[in-house]
Amino acid sequence: MVTPGIRKINMKYALRMTEAQHRALQSHLFPGDGNESVALLLCGRRRGAERHIFTVRKLVAIPYDVCDRRPTRITWPTHFMDSLLQEAFGKELAIVKVHNHGFEFRRFSDTDDESDRVLFAAVSSLLDDDLSHASVIMLPDGQLFGRVLGEDGDVVGPLESIMVVGHEIRIWSEVHRAGADGFALRHAQAFGNGTTDILRNLSVAVVGCSGTGSIVVEQLARLGVGRLVLVDPDVIEEKNLNRILNSGKEDAYLKRPKVDVLASAIARMGLGQEVVPLQGNLINTNIIKSVAECDVVFGCMDGVEGRHWLNRLATFYTMPYFDIGVRLDADGFGGIKQITGAAHYLQPGRSSLLSRGVYDMGRVDAEAMFRANPEMYNRHVKEGYLRGVDEDRPAVISVNMLFAALMVNDFLARIHPFRNQPNSEYAYIGGNLCEMQFFPDSEGSSCETLGRHVGNGDVIPLLDRPALS
Ligand SMILES: [Zn+2]
Repeated sequence: MVTPGIRKINMKYALRMTEAQHRALQSHLFPGDGNESVALLLCGRRRGAERHIFTVRKLVAIPYDVCDRRPTRITWPTHFMDSLLQEAFGKELAIVKVHNHGFEFRRFSDTDDESDRVLFAAVSSLLDDDLSHASVIMLPDGQLFGRVLGEDGDVVGPLESIMVVGHEIRIWSEVHRAGADGFALRHAQAFGNGTTDILRNLSVAVVGCSGTGSIVVEQLARLGVGRLVLVDPDVIEEKNLNRILNSGKEDAYLKRPKVDVLASAIARMGLGQEVVPLQGNLINTNIIKSVAECDVVFGCMDGVEGRHWLNRLATFYTMPYFDIGVRLDADGFGGIKQITGAAHYLQPGRSSLLSRGVYDMGRVDAEAMFRANPEMYNRHVKEGYLRGVDEDRPAVISVNMLFAALMVNDFLARIHPFRNQPNSEYAYIGGNLCEMQFFPDSEGSSCETLGRHVGNGDVIPLLDRPALS
């Protein structure tokens, strides 16, 4: 079977795994005896037009006693691949081989070249799907680098980025976007060249570009994030002008899409970023694919249905997910009852917004009906079968700014740890402005619903949801 397009010259390849997967890999590859070890990863994929991403589903450690292990080479019986190949067959999954080198040998050896060529030619012919696979080397500190192999076992190119999603977000990049310009200097002074370099090579999706989203976008752009994908279905309205950054009366008059208004604001900054404005709802095949091709995702949505989908997406495609929610309760007589907000950080395979109790499925269903079938929704609310969704809640820019900045600072702390307590203490940061208090919290137990989808990548239907078939 020939699939056109996957060998496109400019294709960028990436690998993603969770911290738990990385830890398991490292402890198998470095048992402490100084010899090489090997493991295989079964991976899902996001096969985009420009990015091809491998997402780890499962790790198979090749037992030490069946290998001939030496300090600079290893041989192992390839029949340990059989069950993985059976699992991968017909599902377009990828096989990634990982072995270890010492610090003094930061490249593939001639022996590696030969064994990869033979191994991956065999993998391709057995899977018979003309797709690429990868070979990766781990160094003693857990650092990873690797390359992609095509159907004949020949090297197609490097894995341009490898990301481990945990309490910290660790990224190793092979290829770098050009230019440390003057504007990045201040950040380099604070965070060092390594972090500014990571930001410049990062692709970030912001879902929801309104009251909190526009503020998040402004910060990410000025921090120097290299590529921004903006998602929002709505146009600017006059009622938004009190809080959407960079919006004006003319935008409301012309009914310009929020994503376009923010994209032109970023273009005006002239910092050389790539911006992809996507006007539409997240629950759409093409938008889900575009978001999944980013490295990190920020959710800045009012409702819970979109957040429910985004948490699922981030799990399938092994992405770090930052979520913001702000809530103002007016008493109806010109007074304020409560001003609260929260920034959630969600890792694939751990707790979810649902397992943290941020919402229940009743609210997700109500919003879905409100979106898809307003008539039926109104009838159900009237007859008391459904609790109404929150429309047009009060919103104030100063509150949005505070919590949006809190979330972006949390993101920076994951890339470049700076807090006195470990990042694991801050899965959640809530705040109450009436009490003038912040409540950080660590994570509860893992989400059982989402746990089994980690790294599944592209499946049919997308996200295993019939609505997307
Ligand atoms: Zn080697």
